[in-house]
Amino acid sequence: MKPNDLHALHDTLGELKLDQMALSLDALCQQAAKEEWTYSAFLARLLDEELSGREQRRLSVTTKMAHFPFHKTLEQFDFAFQPSVEKRRFQELASLRFVAGGENVVLLGPPGVGKTHLSIALGIKALEAGLSTYFISVPELIELITQDTQRGQLVKRMQQLCKPKVLILDEMGYLPLERQVATFLFQLVAKRYEKGAIILSSNKSFSEWGELFTDQVLATALLDRLLHHSSIINIRGQSYRLKEKRQSGLFQGADAIKEPVTS
Ligand code: ADP
Ligand code: MG
Repeated sequence: MKPNDLHALHDTLGELKLDQMALSLDALCQQAAKEEWTYSAFLARLLDEELSGREQRRLSVTTKMAHFPFHKTLEQFDFAFQPSVEKRRFQELASLRFVAGGENVVLLGPPGVGKTHLSIALGIKALEAGLSTYFISVPELIELITQDTQRGQLVKRMQQLCKPKVLILDEMGYLPLERQVATFLFQLVAKRYEKGAIILSSNKSFSEWGELFTDQVLATALLDRLLHHSSIINIRGQSYRLKEKRQSGLFQGADAIKEPVTS
């Protein structure tokens, strides 16, 4: 191909917004000539580049929108360190059947055992499968609800949190919930019931949720909907955060951390 032809082709690909094809064109032309590819093999390869480029861009945009506090995958989780977490169970959850059925995943356990890591890992799987995902911690939500109430935007917030196919609600239980927040959470779970999956993590056993919500009836009604179709995962191990400190002998108090009280 003459340099001028190649130049014109770049312009055409640019106009058609086939950016990845434009980027790969020169290298693929050279490779095709060297390895004597057929025309169809060349075209297929060029189109593949465009498709995978688009998929990567989509994933990078949806990952930003998911609002994860950090990026950790299931492959990065050391199941040997946390034997109470069954690898097979997470492989099954990674198939995302629970999302299709609008079911929930509840992760319970003390700090540092990997609840947020595992929630994000499932969120990443969902994004890779093209399912919209949004992460928010309950302390963050508490702040937003206060702001939204002042601005009269609570309904909008509810709509936003009802939209994603997967909603990750992290750190339920670290802060007590005021009436307004407790009611918002109940309505959120009720609206998503059997429609949108929730991955929720908490350091509190279900028996403590009445106290957390300062309303046993509301807590029971929420748990009823949350747990009806759900996988409950009790993590009973030690904090991974303290693993290295413990190994180096810097931290003596790990054994003093209580096992989760789960029901
Ligand atoms: P939790 O939400 O239960 O408090 P995190 O998920 O935030 O705990 O985990 C704390 C840190 O330790 C994170 O950086 C996480 O990636 C890491 N971590 C926890 N458990 C494991 C594990 N079994 N394998 C690999 N990393 C882990
Ligand atoms: Mg956490």
